Amino acid sequence: MNEHIDTDIIATLVAVRSRAYVPYSGHPVGAVLISESGKRYTGANVEVAHYKGLCAEASAIAAMVSAGERRLAEVYVIGPGEHLCTPCGDCRQRLREFATPETVIRVVDAHGKLLKRYSMDELLPDSFGPENLGKDSSMHH
Ligand SMILES: [Zn+2]
Repeated sequence: MNEHIDTDIIATLVAVRSRAYVPYSGHPVGAVLISESGKRYTGANVEVAHYKGLCAEASAIAAMVSAGERRLAEVYVIGPGEHLCTPCGDCRQRLREFATPETVIRVVDAHGKLLKRYSMDELLPDSFGPENLGKDSSMHH
């Protein structure tokens, strides 16, 4: 893909990835979320000895929600290598909770080069969400 990623976003991704706590997997991941207000929220993966760690996307979502925001405009994920470090199944569901049909998810390589971009529906087709429980969902506004 030849879409250019903003150099400031790449710098933020690289910085947050460098703060990941990954003594067990050695696989640092960083995430940057841009909310609908345009603010950025960052997260790194945080492992613990019993192996039930927190993914970068999950920690960034927690930061966004803790700041009082609930709508995702853009999501960026950076892994440690050249392979596609896509959100795990659990994180796809977490992102889905706060995504809209316009939300764009981008996965970049270790140096910030775009590997792939997705809509939420591409990342988690036929997903189960708030509206399945009779709740409002930003995915179907
Ligand atoms: Zn995950």
